[in-house]
Amino acid sequence: MPARRGEDYIKSIKERQPTVFYGGEVVKDVTTHPAFSVAVKTLARMYDLQWEDGYREKLTYTLPGRGDRVGISYLIPDSTEKLIRIREGSTLIYDNMYGFFGRCFDYLNIWTGVFAAHSKDFFGQPEPRFGENVVNFHERCRDNDVFLTHAIVAPSVDRSKMASQLADPFIQAGVVSENSRGIVVRGAAMVSTAAPYAEELIYFPNMLRDPDPRYALAFACATNSKGLKFLARRAFTPRPENTPFEYPMSSRFEESDAFVIFDDVLVPWEGVFVYKQVEKIPLMMWKGVMMKAWFNHHFNIQYYSRLKFLTGLAIVISTTVGIDKFVNVQEKIGELLIYLNLTKASIIAAETAATKLPNGLVRPNAEIAVSCSQFNMKAIPRANEIIKLLAAGSMISLPSSVKDLENPEIRKYIDKYLSGTGTSALERIKVFNLAWDVVSSEAGQRYELYDRFSRGDPTIMWAKMYEQFDDQRDESVAMVRRLLDEMGGPK
Ligand SMILES: Cc1cc2nc3c(=O)[nH]c(=O)nc-3n(C[C@H](O)[C@H](O)[C@H](O)COP(=O)(O)OP(=O)(O)OC[C@H]3O[C@@H](n4cnc5c(N)ncnc54)[C@H](O)[C@@H]3O)c2cc1C
Repeated sequence: MPARRGEDYIKSIKERQPTVFYGGEVVKDVTTHPAFSVAVKTLARMYDLQWEDGYREKLTYTLPGRGDRVGISYLIPDSTEKLIRIREGSTLIYDNMYGFFGRCFDYLNIWTGVFAAHSKDFFGQPEPRFGENVVNFHERCRDNDVFLTHAIVAPSVDRSKMASQLADPFIQAGVVSENSRGIVVRGAAMVSTAAPYAEELIYFPNMLRDPDPRYALAFACATNSKGLKFLARRAFTPRPENTPFEYPMSSRFEESDAFVIFDDVLVPWEGVFVYKQVEKIPLMMWKGVMMKAWFNHHFNIQYYSRLKFLTGLAIVISTTVGIDKFVNVQEKIGELLIYLNLTKASIIAAETAATKLPNGLVRPNAEIAVSCSQFNMKAIPRANEIIKLLAAGSMISLPSSVKDLENPEIRKYIDKYLSGTGTSALERIKVFNLAWDVVSSEAGQRYELYDRFSRGDPTIMWAKMYEQFDDQRDESVAMVRRLLDEMGGPK
């Protein structure tokens, strides 16, 4: 089947409705439920984009031997050129969404190809069937343009203990039994963005929290598998009385997040990628498969679009109220441009210094991709802070809704007192409604949490740099040792 259109995705998710708890009920249809329909609509629009003139060539490629055009993010890059083609596709997607909606389909499509590329040298060792499983998974997702979610972090019941030390050893997902059909998984995962409207879920632990082999597992299963349940958080979509005029970001890019419950889910053997091989768990992220390099490179692509947007927003805010000539304001806009260009440089550098692996896969340079993405864990919240510092009280002195502008009695005051520097009141209100939604609304705040934590806690992740990048560490220490040796001194 060729790459999907929006209506194909909506039809499929209606038919395969996962078990989603919301507001004390089981959701009947995520495509029409107000908590999820915004995200479903946005995703459907992005699937449609795959077929639009000007996008089709960049967002899809022709599958050799079949002639079907499939999503570009399913391409397994065996050259830097292909890595760049995938990035150009993602850039089109994220520019289209102003750098929001981090979990568009391309994010996890890329993972399926990376898994497949490591079928023989990682997943298939020593059991070839697990290697075959990742290849089949990649091909099935690509051929059906499946929308995926992932869950990798154990619930934060007590971070000071290992999973097996908790009163209930199945808080973190683990295997309770196995049979001829597959493994039975019990436990939970703390967040899975997009899960309520996804068709398949990828699970593996983000780190070796416990060396007990029952937790050493990686798999994929259908989101409507028996026993798999999603507890969705409150939706941050606009209130019923509001419109995209007041909430231009939340009304389009509010992604859902859900807590994942594996209530004795039978994962068929064909979905199992790692089982009982404890040593493989840390290798999924670092060294071995090195998913860190892949998803952080993708985050940098998202953030390049977001930083372009935030820089533009800061400039528009400044010119709207006549503060753009002040040096302290220019300094802050300059700071945004520095983050933007560092991110751009890191994307290019991670591709030009990519590593060609013995299995043929060309992987973005891990040190560069991880460093930039982890820098952005702090730079993006700082960019949001800059928007707040520049927009200040103008984000508050706004009419309650578009209806105030539609009433001539109120409008005359709005037009007089709420105009900007050479800007109508209408334009100025749009600018500050947008600023509020991006940095201060519930959806805006959720994005800031996502920017800080979605690829791990920044403290632990920054410390991991020291632990993991041993080549760079050794090179730096050797440099100092050389000078120390040259210093001589008494015996
Ligand atoms: C909006 C959003 C979307 C997300 N989407 C997904 C998703 O789709 N899939 C997914 O799998 N996950 C997702 N996550 C979860 C994310 O991966 C976790 O939030 C992240 O790994 C951090 O874990 P935590 O929140 O439990 O914080 P913790 O790691 O528990 O950190 C909380 C605090 O405790 C400190 N701390 C914790 N442990 C230690 C320690 N051992 N030593 C020292 N200090 C410690 C940290 O420094 C930090 O200050 C998402 C998170 C957010 C916010």
